Amino acid sequence: MSCGERRNHALLKPDLQVSGVWEIDLDALAGEGITGIILDIDNTLAPWGSYDIPDRIREWVEEAKAKGFRLCILTNNYSARADWFSRELVVPAVKGWVKPWAWGYRLAMRELGTDADSSVMVGDQLFTDIRGANRLGIYSILVSPLSDRELLHTRIKRRFERMILGDIDER
Ligand SMILES: [Mg+2]
Repeated sequence: MSCGERRNHALLKPDLQVSGVWEIDLDALAGEGITGIILDIDNTLAPWGSYDIPDRIREWVEEAKAKGFRLCILTNNYSARADWFSRELVVPAVKGWVKPWAWGYRLAMRELGTDADSSVMVGDQLFTDIRGANRLGIYSILVSPLSDRELLHTRIKRRFERMILGDIDER
């Protein structure tokens, strides 16, 4: 492995891994001097391509605001959907082809009034969310993608459906 490869590998390693944003300990972040949270949309705030923000994520966003954190959405999705999330959660959004490029994170930090030491990035993708944050020395938090959980949930539901249908067939 060359030095460059090793460096790239380290850039893909998140500082923290959680199942979802609701597991992020806001008091612990505050204790580390973090005042700004940069958030990915797809699979982090809502399942990919959906408008379906789970209640516990809405609650976590409100809790973060109540604790005095500034929040900013950073998304490579530049459609009207990104604006919808911004309006819905009342959180500013930096959008376009912004990740993993430094300027995207810098725009988000300008929006937050933070620097790399007082910001965290939360997202589900190593090659965009995490790599971009690590490059700038922003604390990086990887969440498990929401859609996989949805799919698993759906698969389990289907299995129950099949079991129930099987019962019906036997009669
Ligand atoms: Mg994502």
